[in-house]
Amino acid sequence: MTKKYRYVFLMSGFALLMFGLSSCSEQDMANIRLLAHLKKYDEARNLIIERNYKQSNPISRDEWEAHFAVDDSDQFTPIDTGLLEENEKLIIEQSRKEAIRKSNIDITPLRGDPVALAKFCEEIPKGGMLHVHPYGLFTRDVVIKILSKYNPVVEPEYFIKTINDQGQKLYDYEIEALRSLPKSEHFLSLSEADQSLFVDFFFLPTDPPSHDFTRFDAIFVFVIWMVEDEHLDEKMEMLYLDFLNRAAGHGISYIEFTNGFPPTLESIEKLTNWSDKFYKETGVVVRWNLGQLRFLPGENNGDLIKKWNALLVEHPTDAIVGVDLYAIERGNPALERAQEAYGFLSGYNRDHPDDHPLEMTMHAGELGDPRNVRDALVMGASRIGHGVKLKDDLVTLEYARNIKPGIEMNITSNYRLEVFDMKTGPHPFLRFLRLGIPVSLSTDNDGIFDTNISKECIAAVSTTDVTYAELQQMSFNSISTSFASPKVKDILSNRLRQSFTLFEQEYLN
Ligand SMILES: [Zn+2]
Repeated sequence: MTKKYRYVFLMSGFALLMFGLSSCSEQDMANIRLLAHLKKYDEARNLIIERNYKQSNPISRDEWEAHFAVDDSDQFTPIDTGLLEENEKLIIEQSRKEAIRKSNIDITPLRGDPVALAKFCEEIPKGGMLHVHPYGLFTRDVVIKILSKYNPVVEPEYFIKTINDQGQKLYDYEIEALRSLPKSEHFLSLSEADQSLFVDFFFLPTDPPSHDFTRFDAIFVFVIWMVEDEHLDEKMEMLYLDFLNRAAGHGISYIEFTNGFPPTLESIEKLTNWSDKFYKETGVVVRWNLGQLRFLPGENNGDLIKKWNALLVEHPTDAIVGVDLYAIERGNPALERAQEAYGFLSGYNRDHPDDHPLEMTMHAGELGDPRNVRDALVMGASRIGHGVKLKDDLVTLEYARNIKPGIEMNITSNYRLEVFDMKTGPHPFLRFLRLGIPVSLSTDNDGIFDTNISKECIAAVSTTDVTYAELQQMSFNSISTSFASPKVKDILSNRLRQSFTLFEQEYLN
């Protein structure tokens, strides 16, 4: 079905749902105006490829925004907006009823029984996790193990200065605590209490539970200091195995990690070997997304991805599957930081469908420019990391209903980094799911946020009216929207289906 026809299909469904709610002419006008907006999105896809793949001439923000502007006659009226919102509510309500009908297990009683809910969430089959940062996975045990084994010299002023220089943040009481440690001492020479105080800095403070992103970002100064030396790979391997074994225990069979690697043959070899080894030792299929730091200039990110793409065309590997723009979103908008990489890849993948493609996901709609989700999707991302701000963008939400990007949701992370506030309403993952967008659950930074995929299930169930069928759907989405090869997806989906059959048999007996 061509794009145009898909829109017509979507619109006819919309018109049907609206029937009876308002006069026919109002519906028609809302439909026509929505279509005019969506047409701009499709045209922008071609424009981004033209300017970043065929030419090397990135689009300015002004030109970009001018492109999305519709004619005066196509501007939404308050009536149009009301109709669109009403339509959304109807779809959500229909979906909810359908999900209740399809659920083989009624999870309502679990909401009043934390012990039973925890057991249920431990045991329900999970599929994959598509949003995982290795540097955020350290548990207290692993931090202590690494610090004890390598016994580095701890110099509190180094951390205070670096965090300050990089614009990150520690609270005054924390700076005071760091300064209470000896000025320069090997980790193992610190008293037990001082060791424990120092290890606390590898995690987000729990009181209060939520913090600004700059406080979260400061943790990586400690992590990088701990791991980045000649023993990096050894330390990371210890970390990966620890995490993957725990994830397997929660029923996870597939992981995509996002991390930065230099575009070299050695990187390809290392990541391929790790994927093989981790699968053999833990049973979890591991794939990698090449991380791009969004605070770097767009040109650097473009160059990096072009190098990686050329290298992978010559030396394809199943282990490396995609790219992912990440790090602090605030002040680093998607268009300016990513069009040279994502626009290039969109064009390359379109023209070379038989090459092993690098697929695209992007952190967007977490804490940055509200237009980032729109721009990520238009630039060719087939998945979005977080995407919470999509809730406030009616047109992009309609666009997402149409192109169905995977959305990697991290409820605990969003709560702990002030991305959403439970007091102002539930997390929007369920709204997106009920609108037909393939949402899946992940953890972002297991260790730092003290979470895991079972705890994410508990968060989902205890804060919304999500049904069993919808939890099941999210498990399947985590495989279907993954960047694994079709063959691997088939194997994992079949395995997941079998796991659900067994799970239901045991649960209901
Ligand atoms: Zn993330």
